[in-house]
Amino acid sequence: MKLLDGKRLSGELKDEIKIKVDTYLSQGHRAPKLCAILVGENPASQSYIRNKVRSCDRVGFASEVIQRSVDVTQAELLSLIDQLNKDETVDGFIVQLPVPDHIDDQELLLAIDPAKDVDGFHPYNFGSMAQGMDAFLPATPYGILLMLERAGIATSGKNVVVIGRSNIVGTPISILLSRKSDMGNATVTLAHSRTKDLKEICQRADILISALGKPFFITHDMVKEGVVIIDVGINRIDDLTKKSGSRLVGDVDFEKVSTKASYITPVPGGVGPMTVAALMMNTLKSYQKKLGLKDE
Ligand code: NAD
Repeated sequence: MKLLDGKRLSGELKDEIKIKVDTYLSQGHRAPKLCAILVGENPASQSYIRNKVRSCDRVGFASEVIQRSVDVTQAELLSLIDQLNKDETVDGFIVQLPVPDHIDDQELLLAIDPAKDVDGFHPYNFGSMAQGMDAFLPATPYGILLMLERAGIATSGKNVVVIGRSNIVGTPISILLSRKSDMGNATVTLAHSRTKDLKEICQRADILISALGKPFFITHDMVKEGVVIIDVGINRIDDLTKKSGSRLVGDVDFEKVSTKASYITPVPGGVGPMTVAALMMNTLKSYQKKLGLKDE
């Protein structure tokens, strides 16, 4: 079994981005800039944002977190998005989800300029992606593609099973892997909460991507020998041996499933860091496009 070490791979990607940014800076260009809108005080969101800011620092990007209290209005957020759309110094920005219930996140998403939508969630980017046109790919699926590519795991002709059909992970990764492209050409089954005979479907998978958010859901008997496991789930479970009283696990029973897998991602340290690296890649792409710069 080989561990798909997202921490290491994302570190390599960030080093490559940093080299490019340093070159652009030495040519007299400004640094790329990523902004994030953070609403409220959700500890998980705060931690995700901290990681993104740290990554920006590491690759030489400028970054700004724009915080708003939990009682911010829809109109205030739309006006903020409008400002960021118009700000020439901002290459990309994200709205950290989830937002409070009184906020319509779809309306926010539609207000983001697709050219700055580095999360790749806007329907313009999603549609372009689905049609194989140039687009910002959603960060988690993009991170998974980069991980497979870097690990030399071919997808062409493979049976891929994706569990979970969210707009940010399951649906886009199923589209990307079935596209006619280098990291595509797979035969993809998209499973979800209404899927019947999930165990049999999973047993046929050469590559199994789990994005449903249920700890220990994928068990040893559900996978075949040699399967590649991409565990997207992030679940907090009680663990009294830890100081905090809890720990993060994925959707996969890692200990037992890893004995059958040829490759497997850990949680934490697998898909999560790749998602952040993909966000950096998208921001760099936006910056390059804006300034008319070529990949160095
Ligand atoms: P979601 O939470 O919006 O939806 C869950 C999906 O799982 C649904 O499509 C549902 O149909 C499916 N599902 C639920 N129960 C099922 C069952 N018993 N059998 C089959 N399918 C079932 O999805 P999401 O936002 O993609 O999040 C999924 C998980 O991935 C969460 O744990 C989330 O925290 C994690 N996540 C991780 C990253 C990362 O960077 N590592 C990024 C995004 C989401």
